[in-house]
Amino acid sequence: MPLLMPPSKLPAVGTTIFTVMSRLAAEHGAINLSQGFPDFSPPPRLLERVASHMAAGANQYAPMAGATSLREAIAEKAGALYGAGYDVEAEVTVTAGATQAIFTAVSAFVRPGDEVIVFAPVYDSYIPAIELNGGRAVVATLRFPDYRPDWSEVAALITPQTRMIIVNTPHNPSGAIWDAADMAELERLTCATGIIVVADEVYEHMVFDGRRHESVMRHPGLRERSLAISSFGKTYHITGWKIAYCLAPRELMAEFRKAHQYVVFAVNHPLQLALADFMRERTEFATELAAFYQAKRDAFRQQLAGSRFVLQPCAGTYFQLARYDAISDLPDTEFARWLTVEHGVATIPVSVFLPSGADNRVVRFCFAKGEATLAAAGERLRAV
Ligand code: PMP
Ligand code: GLN
Repeated sequence: MPLLMPPSKLPAVGTTIFTVMSRLAAEHGAINLSQGFPDFSPPPRLLERVASHMAAGANQYAPMAGATSLREAIAEKAGALYGAGYDVEAEVTVTAGATQAIFTAVSAFVRPGDEVIVFAPVYDSYIPAIELNGGRAVVATLRFPDYRPDWSEVAALITPQTRMIIVNTPHNPSGAIWDAADMAELERLTCATGIIVVADEVYEHMVFDGRRHESVMRHPGLRERSLAISSFGKTYHITGWKIAYCLAPRELMAEFRKAHQYVVFAVNHPLQLALADFMRERTEFATELAAFYQAKRDAFRQQLAGSRFVLQPCAGTYFQLARYDAISDLPDTEFARWLTVEHGVATIPVSVFLPSGADNRVVRFCFAKGEATLAAAGERLRAV
């Protein structure tokens, strides 16, 4: 008998734009500035440490919460950068990527009927994670063209059903960052509530022009209600390793781990040990990342000077937004396809991050690429 398919739990969801655009880029031999990943290698010393731990026999399950040496390195970093004290045993967990950390945080706390506030443009995994867990996403707007939060709108969206707010700074895809006043607003709105904050800080080290990353960990009134998430994928040029972490006060972390242990149980063991070694040996690697990516941002913007694209400001992340109204009237999804097929540069249309479907004729380029790639892309984009 043919299977009677149950109705989809995610009826509106197709294949992610990252998969769609990277595939299209490959099919057409286009330069892939769509999906966010570097086209250069991680530090050789890090790879050497992986091989060494594998050879030494670290090939079985890691501890459920993560290898102790890595959790220690993560806690030390949170202390050194943000002045935040986290207990290595109870308050740090290594995850299989930030995507898993976000899903796990949502599934640990969100019940059917709960509301979760997200900010649009919204990273594509948040709303499906909320909906798979029976929650309802409530969308606050980061208004084009500056993508600033409107705190009076957020205040109006908070109800007794609001269980969680998911924030993301530096912000993908806009490249905007929040400042201390934004964090103060977030704290003011949540301080007398039971709302949990999930802070997606995967681009914490990519903040430019001397500005500082406003981690929830810096702000004690937010820290106490927050799960802070970062990803080694971004920081060490290893998006393919899918390894990240979550920091939270012990009561929150205890609930997070109840879900974590049945989602993945534990994370790739030799990679954790290698990262722990590398973090200890090269503490400056993470903090030098801002200058490294700022130079790439500037090189890419320079490449596009003289093109018909109009560049948005980029304060952080490794993404550059560009308006193309001077080039075409096409909707952004069609423009992205056209640019890939006809001009050989793949990009991400920003409307896919907007549940409203609003299309401001903006596309996102990833500049985490070597000089030659950025120069070749620049040449093609100047000719559009
Ligand atoms: N959050 C944001 C804002 C991201 O851009 C990404 C990926 N680039 C992730 C989460 C997922 O990170 P990971 O690859 O570690 O799952
Ligand atoms: N976060 C990356 C981006 O925004 C892609 C991650 C993925 O492919 N899911 O491009």
